[in-house]
Amino acid sequence: MDSIPLVTRATIDLHYTLLSQIGNLGSTPDGKLKGFCRAPWSDEETKAICLVQASARFSGLITLYDAVGNLRIRTPGDHTTVFAVGSHLDTVPNGGNYDGAAGVIAGLEAIKTLWDARVPLQRGLELIVWRGEESATRGVAYVGSKAATGTLDPAILTRTWRGSTLAHAMESQNVDPTFVQQQKQCFPDTGRQYLGYLELHIEQGRVLEQSDIPIGIVTSIFGNKRYWVELEGQADHSGATAMNDRKDTHAAYAAIHMALEKLYQREGSPTNVVWTNTMFNRGRADFDVLVDENTGNTSVPGYAYFRFETRSNNNTLGDSYATKALRVIEGTARSRDVIVRIHPDSSTPALEQLDISLTKALKESARYLGYGHTNLPSGGGHDGVVVSSVGIPVGMLFIPCRNGMSHSPLELANHEHIAMGANVLAQALYNLAK
Ligand SMILES: [Zn+2]
Repeated sequence: MDSIPLVTRATIDLHYTLLSQIGNLGSTPDGKLKGFCRAPWSDEETKAICLVQASARFSGLITLYDAVGNLRIRTPGDHTTVFAVGSHLDTVPNGGNYDGAAGVIAGLEAIKTLWDARVPLQRGLELIVWRGEESATRGVAYVGSKAATGTLDPAILTRTWRGSTLAHAMESQNVDPTFVQQQKQCFPDTGRQYLGYLELHIEQGRVLEQSDIPIGIVTSIFGNKRYWVELEGQADHSGATAMNDRKDTHAAYAAIHMALEKLYQREGSPTNVVWTNTMFNRGRADFDVLVDENTGNTSVPGYAYFRFETRSNNNTLGDSYATKALRVIEGTARSRDVIVRIHPDSSTPALEQLDISLTKALKESARYLGYGHTNLPSGGGHDGVVVSSVGIPVGMLFIPCRNGMSHSPLELANHEHIAMGANVLAQALYNLAK
Protein backbone atom coordinates (compact mmCIF):
# COMPACT_ATOMS: atom_id res chain seq x y z
CA MET A 1 0.00 0.00 0.00
CA ASP A 2 1.13 3.55 -0.69
CA SER A 3 1.02 6.22 1.98
CA ILE A 4 -1.11 9.31 1.73
CA PRO A 5 -0.99 12.39 3.99
CA LEU A 6 -2.65 11.94 7.39
CA VAL A 7 -5.65 13.86 8.73
CA THR A 8 -4.75 15.36 12.11
CA ARG A 9 -6.72 15.96 15.25
CA ALA A 10 -6.12 19.73 14.85
CA THR A 11 -8.04 19.70 11.55
CA ILE A 12 -11.01 17.99 13.20
CA ASP A 13 -10.84 20.49 16.11
CA LEU A 14 -11.10 23.35 13.64
CA HIS A 15 -14.24 21.96 11.99
CA TYR A 16 -15.83 21.44 15.40
CA THR A 17 -15.03 24.98 16.57
CA LEU A 18 -17.36 26.20 13.83
CA LEU A 19 -19.90 23.37 13.81
CA SER A 20 -20.48 23.55 17.57
CA GLN A 21 -22.06 26.99 17.08
CA ILE A 22 -24.84 25.78 14.78
CA GLY A 23 -28.05 24.63 16.45
CA ASN A 24 -26.36 24.72 19.85
CA LEU A 25 -29.10 25.11 22.50
CA GLY A 26 -26.67 26.31 25.21
CA SER A 27 -27.26 25.35 28.82
CA THR A 28 -29.87 25.58 31.57
CA PRO A 29 -29.53 28.19 34.38
CA ASP A 30 -27.98 25.47 36.57
CA GLY A 31 -25.34 24.71 33.94
CA LYS A 32 -26.69 21.54 32.31
CA LEU A 33 -25.99 21.33 28.58
CA LYS A 34 -29.10 21.33 26.40
CA GLY A 35 -27.39 19.83 23.37
CA PHE A 36 -28.13 20.58 19.73
CA CYS A 37 -31.18 20.84 17.55
CA ARG A 38 -30.68 20.71 13.81
CA ALA A 39 -34.00 19.34 12.61
CA PRO A 40 -34.50 17.96 9.08
CA TRP A 41 -34.87 20.80 6.53
CA SER A 42 -34.42 23.48 9.20
CA ASP A 43 -32.31 26.66 8.99
CA GLU A 44 -29.86 25.07 11.42
CA GLU A 45 -29.37 21.95 9.30
CA THR A 46 -28.88 24.14 6.22
CA LYS A 47 -26.31 26.32 8.01
CA ALA A 48 -24.29 23.25 9.00
CA ILE A 49 -24.46 21.95 5.43
CA CYS A 50 -23.30 25.35 4.09
CA LEU A 51 -20.33 25.26 6.46
CA VAL A 52 -19.20 21.93 5.00
CA GLN A 53 -19.86 23.21 1.49
CA ALA A 54 -17.69 26.28 2.09
CA SER A 55 -14.80 24.18 3.33
CA ALA A 56 -15.02 21.90 0.27
CA ARG A 57 -15.20 24.84 -2.13
CA PHE A 58 -12.14 26.38 -0.55
CA SER A 59 -10.22 23.26 -1.60
CA GLY A 60 -11.55 23.47 -5.15
CA LEU A 61 -13.96 20.56 -4.86
CA ILE A 62 -17.23 20.73 -6.82
CA THR A 63 -20.37 21.23 -4.70
CA LEU A 64 -24.00 20.91 -5.73
CA TYR A 65 -27.41 20.14 -4.24
CA ASP A 66 -29.69 17.41 -5.51
CA ALA A 67 -33.43 17.93 -6.00
CA VAL A 68 -34.28 17.23 -2.35
CA GLY A 69 -31.49 19.32 -0.83
CA ASN A 70 -28.81 16.73 -0.08
CA LEU A 71 -25.34 18.24 -0.58
CA ARG A 72 -22.96 16.47 -2.97
CA ILE A 73 -19.25 17.27 -2.92
CA ARG A 74 -17.25 15.87 -5.82
CA THR A 75 -13.67 15.67 -6.99
CA PRO A 76 -13.38 17.58 -10.30
CA GLY A 77 -13.18 15.59 -13.54
CA ASP A 78 -15.41 13.59 -15.85
CA HIS A 79 -15.81 10.43 -13.83
CA THR A 80 -18.45 7.91 -14.72
CA THR A 81 -17.45 5.56 -11.90
CA VAL A 82 -17.45 6.86 -8.36
CA PHE A 83 -16.86 5.86 -4.74
CA ALA A 84 -18.98 7.78 -2.25
CA VAL A 85 -18.82 8.50 1.48
CA GLY A 86 -21.64 10.07 3.44
CA SER A 87 -23.51 10.77 6.63
CA HIS A 88 -25.88 13.44 8.01
CA LEU A 89 -25.77 16.75 9.90
CA ASP A 90 -29.30 16.78 11.36
CA THR A 91 -29.68 15.93 15.05
CA VAL A 92 -32.52 14.78 17.25
CA PRO A 93 -33.88 17.62 19.46
CA ASN A 94 -31.43 18.01 22.39
CA GLY A 95 -29.06 15.63 20.65
CA GLY A 96 -25.29 15.73 20.25
CA ASN A 97 -22.86 17.06 17.68
CA TYR A 98 -21.27 13.72 16.72
CA ASP A 99 -24.06 11.37 15.55
CA GLY A 100 -23.81 11.98 11.80
CA ALA A 101 -21.57 15.06 11.99
CA ALA A 102 -18.46 13.00 12.82
CA GLY A 103 -19.04 10.99 9.64
CA VAL A 104 -19.51 14.09 7.48
CA ILE A 105 -16.34 15.75 8.83
CA ALA A 106 -14.31 12.53 8.50
CA GLY A 107 -15.64 11.94 4.96
CA LEU A 108 -14.90 15.54 3.95
CA GLU A 109 -11.36 15.34 5.30
CA ALA A 110 -10.73 11.95 3.67
CA ILE A 111 -11.68 13.31 0.24
CA LYS A 112 -9.92 16.67 0.79
CA THR A 113 -6.72 14.90 1.82
CA LEU A 114 -6.62 12.90 -1.40
CA TRP A 115 -7.63 15.89 -3.52
CA ASP A 116 -5.34 18.45 -1.87
CA ALA A 117 -2.36 16.11 -2.39
CA ARG A 118 -3.51 15.56 -6.01
CA VAL A 119 -3.18 11.80 -5.52
CA PRO A 120 -3.90 10.34 -8.98
CA LEU A 121 -7.16 8.36 -8.97
CA GLN A 122 -9.02 6.48 -11.69
CA ARG A 123 -12.42 6.97 -10.05
CA GLY A 124 -14.29 10.01 -8.84
CA LEU A 125 -14.94 10.57 -5.14
CA GLU A 126 -18.13 12.03 -3.71
CA LEU A 127 -19.23 13.08 -0.23
CA ILE A 128 -22.99 12.99 0.29
CA VAL A 129 -24.43 14.99 3.17
CA TRP A 130 -27.87 13.45 3.60
CA ARG A 131 -30.65 15.56 5.02
CA GLY A 132 -33.08 14.33 7.65
CA GLU A 133 -31.59 11.00 8.72
CA GLU A 134 -33.10 11.12 12.22
CA SER A 135 -36.68 10.00 12.77
CA ALA A 136 -37.25 11.93 16.02
CA THR A 137 -39.24 14.80 14.54
CA ARG A 138 -41.64 13.17 12.09
CA GLY A 139 -41.34 9.47 12.90
CA VAL A 140 -39.55 8.29 9.74
CA ALA A 141 -35.80 7.79 9.38
CA TYR A 142 -33.54 8.28 6.32
CA VAL A 143 -35.87 10.91 4.84
CA GLY A 144 -33.18 12.57 2.70
CA SER A 145 -31.78 9.36 1.24
CA LYS A 146 -35.25 7.85 0.75
CA ALA A 147 -36.44 11.05 -0.94
CA ALA A 148 -33.41 11.02 -3.26
CA THR A 149 -33.91 7.37 -4.20
CA GLY A 150 -37.65 7.85 -4.82
CA THR A 151 -38.53 5.44 -2.02
CA LEU A 152 -40.07 7.87 0.51
CA ASP A 153 -43.78 7.39 1.17
CA PRO A 154 -45.26 10.80 0.19
CA ALA A 155 -47.73 10.51 3.09
CA ILE A 156 -44.96 11.68 5.42
CA LEU A 157 -45.03 15.13 3.75
CA THR A 158 -48.06 16.01 5.89
CA ARG A 159 -46.54 14.93 9.22
CA THR A 160 -45.94 17.87 11.50
CA TRP A 161 -43.28 18.83 13.98
CA ARG A 162 -43.65 22.03 16.01
CA GLY A 163 -46.53 23.04 13.79
CA SER A 164 -44.69 22.61 10.49
CA THR A 165 -45.35 19.85 7.98
CA LEU A 166 -42.41 18.19 6.28
CA ALA A 167 -43.58 19.69 2.97
CA HIS A 168 -43.50 23.16 4.52
CA ALA A 169 -40.07 22.54 6.06
CA MET A 170 -38.74 21.49 2.65
CA GLU A 171 -40.21 24.58 1.00
CA SER A 172 -38.58 26.75 3.67
CA GLN A 173 -35.21 25.41 2.47
CA ASN A 174 -35.98 25.93 -1.25
CA VAL A 175 -36.80 22.26 -1.92
CA ASP A 176 -39.92 21.49 -3.96
CA PRO A 177 -41.90 18.76 -2.15
CA THR A 178 -43.69 17.74 -5.36
CA PHE A 179 -40.49 15.86 -6.23
CA VAL A 180 -41.24 13.61 -3.24
CA GLN A 181 -44.97 13.66 -3.94
CA GLN A 182 -44.26 12.18 -7.38
CA GLN A 183 -41.61 9.81 -5.96
CA LYS A 184 -39.06 11.00 -8.51
CA GLN A 185 -35.48 9.86 -8.12
CA CYS A 186 -32.19 11.80 -8.13
CA PHE A 187 -29.83 9.22 -6.65
CA PRO A 188 -27.99 7.32 -8.05
CA ASP A 189 -27.46 10.01 -10.70
CA THR A 190 -27.82 9.04 -14.32
CA GLY A 191 -24.43 8.68 -15.99
CA ARG A 192 -22.62 8.06 -12.70
CA GLN A 193 -22.03 4.53 -11.51
CA TYR A 194 -21.54 4.30 -7.76
CA LEU A 195 -19.13 1.42 -7.11
CA GLY A 196 -19.40 1.68 -3.35
CA TYR A 197 -20.56 3.80 -0.41
CA LEU A 198 -18.66 4.13 2.89
CA GLU A 199 -19.90 5.74 6.09
CA LEU A 200 -18.17 6.52 9.37
CA HIS A 201 -20.39 6.84 12.43
CA ILE A 202 -20.01 6.96 16.20
CA GLU A 203 -20.74 3.53 17.64
CA GLN A 204 -23.70 4.54 19.88
CA GLY A 205 -22.70 1.59 22.05
CA ARG A 206 -19.89 0.78 24.47
CA VAL A 207 -18.00 -2.08 22.79
CA LEU A 208 -15.14 -0.01 21.33
CA GLU A 209 -14.71 2.24 24.36
CA GLN A 210 -14.72 -0.62 26.85
CA SER A 211 -12.21 -2.61 24.84
CA ASP A 212 -10.11 0.48 24.04
CA ILE A 213 -10.25 -0.16 20.29
CA PRO A 214 -10.44 2.95 18.02
CA ILE A 215 -11.99 1.40 14.89
CA GLY A 216 -15.04 -0.84 14.52
CA ILE A 217 -15.70 -2.59 11.22
CA VAL A 218 -19.47 -2.90 10.88
CA THR A 219 -20.75 -6.29 9.74
CA SER A 220 -24.55 -5.74 9.71
CA ILE A 221 -27.11 -3.00 10.36
CA PHE A 222 -30.22 -3.65 12.42
CA GLY A 223 -33.60 -3.05 10.80
CA ASN A 224 -36.77 -2.22 12.75
CA LYS A 225 -40.51 -2.73 12.91
CA ARG A 226 -42.60 -0.13 14.75
CA TYR A 227 -46.21 -0.20 15.92
CA TRP A 228 -48.71 1.97 17.76
CA VAL A 229 -50.70 -0.06 20.26
CA GLU A 230 -54.03 1.20 21.62
CA LEU A 231 -55.53 -0.17 24.84
CA GLU A 232 -59.21 0.44 25.49
CA GLY A 233 -60.58 -0.47 28.93
CA GLN A 234 -63.18 1.23 31.09
CA ALA A 235 -62.77 4.55 32.93
CA ASP A 236 -64.28 4.08 36.40
CA HIS A 237 -64.31 5.55 39.90
CA SER A 238 -60.95 4.83 41.53
CA GLY A 239 -62.54 4.42 44.99
CA ALA A 240 -65.84 2.76 44.25
CA THR A 241 -64.80 0.21 41.62
CA ALA A 242 -63.82 -3.16 43.09
CA MET A 243 -60.28 -4.25 42.25
CA ASN A 244 -61.46 -7.39 40.48
CA ASP A 245 -64.02 -5.45 38.47
CA ARG A 246 -61.65 -3.13 36.62
CA LYS A 247 -60.53 -2.78 33.00
CA ASP A 248 -57.44 -0.77 33.84
CA THR A 249 -55.39 0.06 30.75
CA HIS A 250 -52.32 1.19 32.73
CA ALA A 251 -52.26 -2.10 34.63
CA ALA A 252 -52.60 -3.91 31.30
CA TYR A 253 -49.67 -1.91 29.92
CA ALA A 254 -47.53 -2.86 32.93
CA ALA A 255 -48.47 -6.53 32.52
CA ILE A 256 -47.68 -6.35 28.78
CA HIS A 257 -44.26 -4.93 29.51
CA MET A 258 -43.48 -7.72 31.98
CA ALA A 259 -44.82 -10.37 29.58
CA LEU A 260 -42.59 -8.99 26.80
CA GLU A 261 -39.58 -9.22 29.14
CA LYS A 262 -40.45 -12.84 29.86
CA LEU A 263 -40.82 -13.58 26.14
CA TYR A 264 -37.36 -12.13 25.54
CA GLN A 265 -35.84 -14.22 28.34
CA ARG A 266 -37.42 -17.28 26.75
CA GLU A 267 -36.97 -16.64 23.04
CA GLY A 268 -34.89 -13.49 22.53
CA SER A 269 -31.45 -13.40 20.99
CA PRO A 270 -29.15 -10.89 22.71
CA THR A 271 -26.91 -10.49 19.65
CA ASN A 272 -29.68 -10.36 17.03
CA VAL A 273 -32.91 -8.93 18.49
CA VAL A 274 -33.86 -6.05 20.81
CA TRP A 275 -37.27 -4.57 21.64
CA THR A 276 -38.48 -1.39 23.36
CA ASN A 277 -41.74 0.23 24.40
CA THR A 278 -40.53 3.66 23.37
CA MET A 279 -43.45 5.94 24.26
CA PHE A 280 -46.43 5.80 26.59
CA ASN A 281 -49.44 8.11 26.23
CA ARG A 282 -47.56 10.58 24.09
CA GLY A 283 -46.45 11.01 20.51
CA ARG A 284 -49.78 10.78 18.66
CA ALA A 285 -52.01 13.82 18.85
CA ASP A 286 -55.07 11.93 17.55
CA PHE A 287 -54.91 9.53 20.51
CA ASP A 288 -54.16 12.15 23.14
CA VAL A 289 -57.77 13.32 23.30
CA LEU A 290 -58.88 9.78 24.25
CA VAL A 291 -56.27 9.72 27.01
CA ASP A 292 -57.63 13.00 28.37
CA GLU A 293 -61.23 11.75 28.28
CA ASN A 294 -60.51 8.41 29.95
CA THR A 295 -57.95 9.14 32.65
CA GLY A 296 -58.01 11.43 35.67
CA ASN A 297 -56.67 11.62 39.18
CA THR A 298 -59.68 9.79 40.66
CA SER A 299 -60.26 7.39 37.78
CA VAL A 300 -59.29 3.85 36.92
CA PRO A 301 -57.55 4.55 33.58
CA GLY A 302 -59.75 3.56 30.65
CA TYR A 303 -57.50 4.29 27.71
CA ALA A 304 -53.79 4.19 26.98
CA TYR A 305 -51.52 3.85 24.00
CA PHE A 306 -47.87 3.11 23.45
CA ARG A 307 -45.30 2.67 20.74
CA PHE A 308 -43.57 -0.68 20.43
CA GLU A 309 -40.57 -1.57 18.30
CA THR A 310 -38.39 -4.57 17.59
CA ARG A 311 -35.00 -4.36 15.92
CA SER A 312 -32.91 -7.12 14.42
CA ASN A 313 -29.95 -7.63 12.10
CA ASN A 314 -31.62 -10.76 10.73
CA ASN A 315 -34.86 -10.16 8.80
CA THR A 316 -36.33 -13.64 9.26
CA LEU A 317 -35.56 -13.63 12.97
CA GLY A 318 -36.81 -10.05 13.38
CA ASP A 319 -40.10 -10.77 11.60
CA SER A 320 -40.84 -13.93 13.56
CA TYR A 321 -39.91 -12.28 16.87
CA ALA A 322 -42.19 -9.30 16.13
CA THR A 323 -45.07 -11.68 15.37
CA LYS A 324 -44.56 -13.49 18.68
CA ALA A 325 -44.35 -10.20 20.59
CA LEU A 326 -47.60 -8.92 19.06
CA ARG A 327 -49.31 -12.15 20.11
CA VAL A 328 -48.06 -11.65 23.66
CA ILE A 329 -49.36 -8.05 23.64
CA GLU A 330 -52.79 -9.17 22.41
CA GLY A 331 -53.04 -12.13 24.80
CA THR A 332 -51.99 -10.14 27.86
CA ALA A 333 -54.44 -7.31 27.13
CA ARG A 334 -57.28 -9.81 26.64
CA SER A 335 -56.46 -11.55 29.92
CA ARG A 336 -57.16 -8.20 31.60
CA ASP A 337 -60.39 -7.57 29.73
CA VAL A 338 -58.83 -4.73 27.77
CA ILE A 339 -59.41 -4.29 24.03
CA VAL A 340 -56.20 -3.95 22.03
CA ARG A 341 -55.69 -2.44 18.57
CA ILE A 342 -52.29 -2.72 16.90
CA HIS A 343 -51.37 -0.30 14.10
CA PRO A 344 -48.19 -1.07 12.11
CA ASP A 345 -46.34 2.26 11.76
CA SER A 346 -43.09 1.78 9.89
CA SER A 347 -40.64 -0.90 9.05
CA THR A 348 -37.09 -0.88 7.71
CA PRO A 349 -35.32 -4.10 6.75
CA ALA A 350 -31.97 -5.03 8.24
CA LEU A 351 -28.84 -4.97 6.16
CA GLU A 352 -27.75 -8.46 7.12
CA GLN A 353 -24.31 -8.36 5.57
CA LEU A 354 -22.34 -5.29 4.54
CA ASP A 355 -20.36 -5.58 1.31
CA ILE A 356 -17.52 -8.04 1.77
CA SER A 357 -14.94 -6.33 -0.44
CA LEU A 358 -15.60 -2.87 1.08
CA THR A 359 -15.43 -4.37 4.57
CA LYS A 360 -12.11 -5.94 3.62
CA ALA A 361 -10.84 -2.61 2.23
CA LEU A 362 -11.67 -0.84 5.52
CA LYS A 363 -10.06 -3.59 7.57
CA GLU A 364 -6.88 -3.61 5.49
CA SER A 365 -6.62 0.18 5.75
CA ALA A 366 -6.95 0.07 9.54
CA ARG A 367 -4.31 -2.65 9.67
CA TYR A 368 -1.98 -0.71 7.33
CA LEU A 369 -2.29 2.39 9.53
CA GLY A 370 -1.60 0.32 12.64
CA TYR A 371 -4.97 1.09 14.23
CA GLY A 372 -6.64 -1.49 16.48
CA HIS A 373 -9.96 -2.70 15.01
CA THR A 374 -12.71 -5.24 15.59
CA ASN A 375 -15.91 -6.43 13.90
CA LEU A 376 -19.31 -5.48 15.31
CA PRO A 377 -22.95 -5.07 14.23
CA SER A 378 -24.74 -1.70 14.18
CA GLY A 379 -27.79 -1.56 16.45
CA GLY A 380 -28.74 1.87 15.08
CA GLY A 381 -29.92 2.36 11.51
CA HIS A 382 -28.01 4.40 8.95
CA ASP A 383 -28.53 5.83 5.44
CA GLY A 384 -26.38 2.97 4.12
CA VAL A 385 -29.47 0.77 4.39
CA VAL A 386 -31.21 2.95 1.79
CA VAL A 387 -28.08 3.23 -0.38
CA SER A 388 -27.80 -0.56 -0.36
CA SER A 389 -31.47 -0.89 -1.33
CA VAL A 390 -30.70 0.71 -4.72
CA GLY A 391 -27.95 -1.81 -5.42
CA ILE A 392 -24.85 0.08 -4.27
CA PRO A 393 -22.34 -1.89 -2.14
CA VAL A 394 -22.04 -0.44 1.38
CA GLY A 395 -19.27 -0.55 4.00
CA MET A 396 -19.24 1.15 7.42
CA LEU A 397 -16.87 1.88 10.22
CA PHE A 398 -17.42 2.98 13.80
CA ILE A 399 -15.38 5.07 16.18
CA PRO A 400 -15.95 5.04 19.96
CA CYS A 401 -18.20 7.58 21.74
CA ARG A 402 -18.14 8.44 25.43
CA ASN A 403 -20.07 5.90 27.52
CA GLY A 404 -21.69 4.72 24.30
CA MET A 405 -24.07 7.68 24.59
CA SER A 406 -25.82 9.35 21.68
CA HIS A 407 -29.05 11.27 21.07
CA SER A 408 -28.04 13.11 24.23
CA PRO A 409 -26.42 16.47 25.08
CA LEU A 410 -23.63 14.37 26.67
CA GLU A 411 -22.77 12.71 23.36
CA LEU A 412 -19.02 13.06 22.75
CA ALA A 413 -16.35 11.53 20.52
CA ASN A 414 -12.61 12.00 20.79
CA HIS A 415 -11.38 14.13 17.87
CA GLU A 416 -8.30 11.93 17.65
CA HIS A 417 -10.62 8.99 16.91
CA ILE A 418 -12.45 11.00 14.22
CA ALA A 419 -9.07 11.80 12.60
CA MET A 420 -8.12 8.10 12.74
CA GLY A 421 -11.46 7.17 11.17
CA ALA A 422 -10.89 9.78 8.43
CA ASN A 423 -7.50 8.21 7.74
CA VAL A 424 -9.04 4.75 7.41
CA LEU A 425 -11.61 6.20 4.98
CA ALA A 426 -8.94 8.04 2.97
CA GLN A 427 -6.69 5.00 2.74
CA ALA A 428 -9.60 2.75 1.75
CA LEU A 429 -10.84 5.26 -0.88
CA TYR A 430 -7.33 5.51 -2.26
CA ASN A 431 -6.94 1.73 -2.53
CA LEU A 432 -10.35 1.38 -4.14
CA ALA A 433 -10.17 4.34 -6.54
CA LYS A 434 -6.52 4.40 -7.66
ZN1 LIG B 1 -26.63 9.01 12.73
